Amino acid sequence: MLQLFLLAIFVVFLSTPAVASQVSITVDDFNLSSEIGMEPLKRNAAILAALKKHKIKAAGFVTTKYLNDSKAVEAVKEWSSSGHVIGNHTENHWKYNDKTPAEFSADIIAAENKLKPFATFKKIFRFPYLKEGETLEKRDTLRSFLKNNGYSNGHVSIDASDWYINMRLVEKLKKGESVNLEKYKNFYLKHIWDRSEYYSKLARKTLNHDIKHTLLLHHNLTTALFLDDLLKMYQEKGWKVIDAENAFMDPTYSRSSDNIPAGESIVWALAKQMGDKSLRYPAEDSVYEKDEMDKLGL
Ligand SMILES: [Zn+2]
Repeated sequence: MLQLFLLAIFVVFLSTPAVASQVSITVDDFNLSSEIGMEPLKRNAAILAALKKHKIKAAGFVTTKYLNDSKAVEAVKEWSSSGHVIGNHTENHWKYNDKTPAEFSADIIAAENKLKPFATFKKIFRFPYLKEGETLEKRDTLRSFLKNNGYSNGHVSIDASDWYINMRLVEKLKKGESVNLEKYKNFYLKHIWDRSEYYSKLARKTLNHDIKHTLLLHHNLTTALFLDDLLKMYQEKGWKVIDAENAFMDPTYSRSSDNIPAGESIVWALAKQMGDKSLRYPAEDSVYEKDEMDKLGL
């Protein structure tokens, strides 16, 4: 009996991860033009309030064409004065695969010039759509450009489709249809948790250890509505929420893979390079969520 008891304790000990998984929040684009569901600056305030409540600093990757709207300028100012990192997400949000290296790097510099005045701006760059080049030459030209200009890659580790859930919610609201926000929230939390577990497992399988994660979200209605619940969920599941700057210090973020086309989550890219046959491409997209959302009437 005693042996059984000791064995049970041992099994529990083995199955408990020694270190809790860690996750940080990164928020892309800063398109504040939509008034649907919540006023844009209220949306911004809700996102900042959730981060403050959970005592973490995020990273905001700004596409600077949106700064033509004074509300977006106001939002980025508030992010900066609250101590959140501001990163570069190009001027025009082009897909690199559709542009030449010269066009694309000029677009990065154009964004940099607009972001420099913000106190917490850092030379950290996130590729729109996480697409880093479809040929070896284009991939390497941009990598050299970023390096020569002092940039690090603001990799995503946990990729997800928050933008798609948001898009469907906003479309319903636009049509004046009644929506059950609780159902959207549940689907959103389930989706992000599913992707978090997936990329955490993939990291352990590929690198033999978990990493400090960077979750990709967008500056949109679902982030404003559900970020607080999302951060709560992570903690309830035993994950630690951390500052984005801390996460980006994980050495995994200075790694790059040899894949062509280049891009996607850094965890996905490193797994792909190692010949993992279980990976889908693209790693994340609306098609993977559509049927389930249709079925649920979301
Ligand atoms: Zn983006």
